[in-house]
Amino acid sequence: MYVAAIIAAGGQGARLGAGRPKQLLAIGGRSMLQRSVELLAAHPDVAEIVVVLPAALVADPPAYLRTLAKPARVVAGGTSRQDSVANGFALVRERADIVLIHDAARPFASPELISRTIAAAAESGAAVAALPASDTVKLSLETTTRQGPVVERTIPRERVYLAQTPQAFRTDVLREAMAAHRATTLATDEAALVEAAGMPVRLVMGEVTNVKITTMADLTVARALVERTDSACRVRIGTGYDLHTLAEGRPLILGGVTIPFDRGLAGHSDADALSHAVTDAVLGAVSKGDIGRHFPDSDPQWKGASSLSMLRHAVSLARDAGYVVGNVDAVIIAERPRLAAHIDRIRECLAGVLGVGIDCVSVKGKTNEGVGEIGRGEAIAVHAVAVLVSRPSEEALS
Ligand code: MG
Repeated sequence: MYVAAIIAAGGQGARLGAGRPKQLLAIGGRSMLQRSVELLAAHPDVAEIVVVLPAALVADPPAYLRTLAKPARVVAGGTSRQDSVANGFALVRERADIVLIHDAARPFASPELISRTIAAAAESGAAVAALPASDTVKLSLETTTRQGPVVERTIPRERVYLAQTPQAFRTDVLREAMAAHRATTLATDEAALVEAAGMPVRLVMGEVTNVKITTMADLTVARALVERTDSACRVRIGTGYDLHTLAEGRPLILGGVTIPFDRGLAGHSDADALSHAVTDAVLGAVSKGDIGRHFPDSDPQWKGASSLSMLRHAVSLARDAGYVVGNVDAVIIAERPRLAAHIDRIRECLAGVLGVGIDCVSVKGKTNEGVGEIGRGEAIAVHAVAVLVSRPSEEALS
């Protein structure tokens, strides 16, 4: 059985009011169109895909259409949905047994629903996914009063189904229905043409989650759902550690703040062990390696460099990966000097670089109780933990 899929994406989606075709708006990083196309391309029954696009997009179609697992062709839509699907149908290969039609605005149809619809069409000639009405259904009078619509009667809802897509047809059935009734029937779906031709159309149980994204409210709900169910990690934790020895003739810099002391930390850069540990925690949270990989000692660029610039770079790498800093907690282990008087300035300085409020940066000082190298004042060590959270979606703005 050879199944050709037509994806109807020729409309401008004027009801959404987003200023561009709604099928190009992203949900969880992929446009509705891309989601629908990839859904069908991945389906084992579908052999080829025809995408009906707005005329302006046909000359320069989205790149993912070229790298699908199934052959895909594009064609310009017409003035109505019927014309658009007819343009797509004209491109379907002669050998197709079944033509499946799906709205790009329904990106959440399941593969099982597609299979059910194809199987029913193969058996009965035509099939449409539909949900039984759960609300009481009122039919309004044909003319609307000045106060608004008025009920003519209540329709027994047991027989009311709300049509979705996919809809599937045996190729001969669809061809005949389109030839006979396309000119005379104003249909909002292809099943209506088959009905007008007096041929049976099977109702296949649709899915509540197979929503049609028509309004901005639909889009907001869809984005929230995808964000909640996306398997991608939304909160990430990184840990960092650093130790530098104390040496004469060096300034003591911690978290970008110079602290009066008779010695300072030795190292290639400014040897700011706190900034280094926090940098490693941020890099670790997004699995971007460590400070040595990004700022090697061998690179003269970083000789004497402010470690805050390294931290700033780590934050921008995290941003590129889709994350921003939530909060940071650090412990500085130093026998001397006493750090209490400097802690708030350090927090303020780090908060500025991390792009968070000062209440999201914690820095604690601790001695090593005289034990070991740190206890003898030969070195200062720092432990840091950073929590990163997924960046607020830019989709919310488009
Ligand atoms: Mg270091």
